[in-house]
Amino acid sequence: VIEQKSDHLTNVTLANYLLKKIENATSTKLLEFQEIWKKTFEKEPDRIKIEKRNYLLKNLEIHEKIHTNIIISKDALKDLLKKISKYAVITDKTVFPIIKRYLCELLKPYCLYYIDDLDGEELTRIINAVKSNGSELLLGLGGGRVMDYLKFIQMETKLFSLAIPTSLATHVYASPKLHALPAIKELGYAKTIDGPVPDLAILDITFLKNLKQSKPRLINAGLGDLMAYITAVEDWKLAEQYLTTKTNTAVIEMCNESITNLNKINVEDILENWISDYVLMQVLLCEITGWVGSAPASGSEHLFALAAEKDFDNPPLHGELVALGTLIMTYIHGGDTIAVFNLIKKLQLPCSLKEIALSKQQVITALENGKLLGIAKGRFTISNTLSMNIDFCEKVVSELISYGFLEY
Ligand SMILES: [Zn+2]
Repeated sequence: VIEQKSDHLTNVTLANYLLKKIENATSTKLLEFQEIWKKTFEKEPDRIKIEKRNYLLKNLEIHEKIHTNIIISKDALKDLLKKISKYAVITDKTVFPIIKRYLCELLKPYCLYYIDDLDGEELTRIINAVKSNGSELLLGLGGGRVMDYLKFIQMETKLFSLAIPTSLATHVYASPKLHALPAIKELGYAKTIDGPVPDLAILDITFLKNLKQSKPRLINAGLGDLMAYITAVEDWKLAEQYLTTKTNTAVIEMCNESITNLNKINVEDILENWISDYVLMQVLLCEITGWVGSAPASGSEHLFALAAEKDFDNPPLHGELVALGTLIMTYIHGGDTIAVFNLIKKLQLPCSLKEIALSKQQVITALENGKLLGIAKGRFTISNTLSMNIDFCEKVVSELISYGFLEY
């Protein structure tokens, strides 16, 4: 039982959220929530990193502390940069000029590395340079790809890493999973690595508000990724019926709650009013994956999205594909397709094939291939219980189009 919450957890939204769950839970669920608490907060804290984090956060304007290392701030970046020196910047060529314009002369990298055209050799060169040139901190500026490389370089160099996500389209900034991107694969790593999370990630409301104006898809797409719970949890329950895998009632409760909260989000409202709920959902998703594996957050809808991403040169944003996959797989599950359709519209995500540049044939192919991907990955979903041949997939897509759920 949790006797005392230590100091560094005061005002941490995730900690308070879980404590409330523990207070209100009974029997099996109580044990599950206690186990979750242990896994999340009873790890031996790294004192040096906590001290460094506290130093960096001192006197900053904090909007909300979602997790011990995930902070939402209001215009704190400029103050933060005054506190660090000798930092190696990991970024890409699209993001850097934008953030440079935003931070002006305050951004003075000690060394600067672009990840745009990285191969294994270049990545090794960066790691060795950072290790030996006296860099004191890694500063990651960018979206999901930059965050993955940041975490990899952090893992290899053990330097303190500060992440500034410049997009909410993915939750890579909060995830302990590291995608083995091409250059990482060249260094002999397999598909996904259990890597470190950034020692501190700061989501700057002012910067993200500007982004919402200019590129709203980079804010909204991540909401689509969270919709995955709608179908993934059903697939997880099916797997429990067919196989020996076990679900977790506490996790299912949190997944369902996220969907309820997703329905409450009004993307037209100012970002301050909903960014905390959004980031908490993203952080929770990453934690859930750590607690019970990725099944409840990644089911048949993700297999569809992954198949589409694999097969096409210019796939739409991941979260947009996941939302579309959730719609299609909900229909196949016999779930509430109208509710999913309305949620997609409310979150201003696309369900028009034209809008995300997919043809009807590509959707059908991705459905068929998704099943094969699931089998290869060992992920049991509703697809395993159906033939998913071309006639079936064609029928599903045509029906969704004729009912007006998919705009064609
Ligand atoms: Zn995803």
